[in-house]
Amino acid sequence: TSSLFTTLTAPNGRSFDQPLGLFINNEWRAAKSGDGITVVSPINEEEIVKVHAAGAQDVDDAVKAAREAFKGPWSKIGPTERGELLRKLADLAEEQTETLATIDTWNNGKRLSSAKGDVGELTSVLRFYAGFADKLYGQVISTTESKFAYTSREPIGVCGQIIPWNYPLGMAAWKMAPALAAGNTIVLKPAEQTPLSILVFATLIDRSGFPPGVINIVNGFGRTAGASLAGHVGVDKVAFTGSTNTGREIMKLAATNLKEITLETGGKSPLIVFEDADLDNASKWAHYGIMANQGQICTATSRILVHETIYTKFVDLFIGRVKQTSKVGNPFEAGTFQGPQVSKAQYERVLSYIEKGKQEGATLRFGGKPHQGVDGKGFFVEPTVFTDVKDNMKIYREEVFGPLVAISSFTTEEEAIERANDTFYGLGAAIFTENITRAHQFAKKIEAGSESPLSHRRVNIDYGFSVVWINSSNDSDFRIPFGGVKQSGIGRELGEAGITAYTTVKAVHVNLGTRL
Ligand code: ADP
Repeated sequence: TSSLFTTLTAPNGRSFDQPLGLFINNEWRAAKSGDGITVVSPINEEEIVKVHAAGAQDVDDAVKAAREAFKGPWSKIGPTERGELLRKLADLAEEQTETLATIDTWNNGKRLSSAKGDVGELTSVLRFYAGFADKLYGQVISTTESKFAYTSREPIGVCGQIIPWNYPLGMAAWKMAPALAAGNTIVLKPAEQTPLSILVFATLIDRSGFPPGVINIVNGFGRTAGASLAGHVGVDKVAFTGSTNTGREIMKLAATNLKEITLETGGKSPLIVFEDADLDNASKWAHYGIMANQGQICTATSRILVHETIYTKFVDLFIGRVKQTSKVGNPFEAGTFQGPQVSKAQYERVLSYIEKGKQEGATLRFGGKPHQGVDGKGFFVEPTVFTDVKDNMKIYREEVFGPLVAISSFTTEEEAIERANDTFYGLGAAIFTENITRAHQFAKKIEAGSESPLSHRRVNIDYGFSVVWINSSNDSDFRIPFGGVKQSGIGRELGEAGITAYTTVKAVHVNLGTRL
């Protein structure tokens, strides 16, 4: 790969300029590593283009640029002006909605309306944190008659940010916006599967007026660029979203210089339907909660527990919803609900879990095969529904990250809570009931949790889940804090919590007269 730009034309006929290099110090650079990433469309398995792949030296250059910017020009820009820059970036991104969405449909496989929704998420998050930039207040704390202290929230410094492929732009926004609003500089590494939309977005950084080095974007592979960034001693904080095992690796790498860390990792989120629920509504949300985005959501409610008295009725409604809604096919076509899985690896992973479900004796009620997709090509899988799933089956315990749901029945409320909590993950949990007392008790209990006798792993499950939905599933909102407990992560993103995670508190002790 030598050139830094090319013109691409997507299958929907839209042409655009695609940067291919690394964005460092507001310049497009070739990777010194000489490595490249072949970017493939999951719709037809064809190569879209090759982009540069950063190596350790490139990451080091980006970190140095971010450090210079942090010490220099960025530190001289006040909080209100930082907010204005973020707003400008949001405005320019909004103008590019059609192009950015087209790229993510082509590169990620998500349907065009969802990809446009992701651009909306990007601009909303940028604007939300733009408003926060000049509202990060400290405290004044009195101690004794002659002493008090004040605190201020300071930026942490250079932040390394490593993001996954399921929401290329949304995940970039969740990481970049609060970090920048709080006055940090960043080096962001997109997922190797989906670098294209972020590179186009990067062309707007300079135009928005950000000084060089404030935002650096280094495409690259996880084990090279990602690991260099997470281990780099010039990086003060690392933020990561991805699988639990990679999160564990990143924690170890971050230990070099005791970096601040936030991790948002895997999940196996339960959705519980009580006998008094509005079943039609529950079946629709349950469908959305697992089948949206091809099931590639860390909070996907992939385990459904249904009260035995309404089990058959709910399963019928759910399958009716799958049949009615889940048109699988070309994500550029209006009316398509489900596109391909993002990559061959993910496609094979989902198919292997389908096989495990069959082998372990769950009842396959719908789907269960590859889908012919577009002319027999592409990484398409049928939406798949297993019922009568037992708690020890792999499809009930392990994160599949695809359109596969495991449905099971329960008898008592205590049993439902215990079985919901019986996982080493702790991200989301949804409950459907019309009884408000039960709903809030559930939210509390699932938070307080209890050591489950059913636990197949000796892990601490004193606390259950950190995101609870009452009568919905996978409702996300940039104003609401998001993140996991247990092995689903450390720290929070979004909301006020999302920006305080990019600050450190300084305390200044003031002595008005105490003498020694
Ligand atoms: P997946 O298995 O779904 O690709 P990962 O958690 O491996 O999920 O990837 C999420 C992000 O983490 C990607 O940007 C990837 O490149 C990066 N990554 C993967 N392995 C490492 C690693 N060892 N160190 C740092 N980053 C990594």
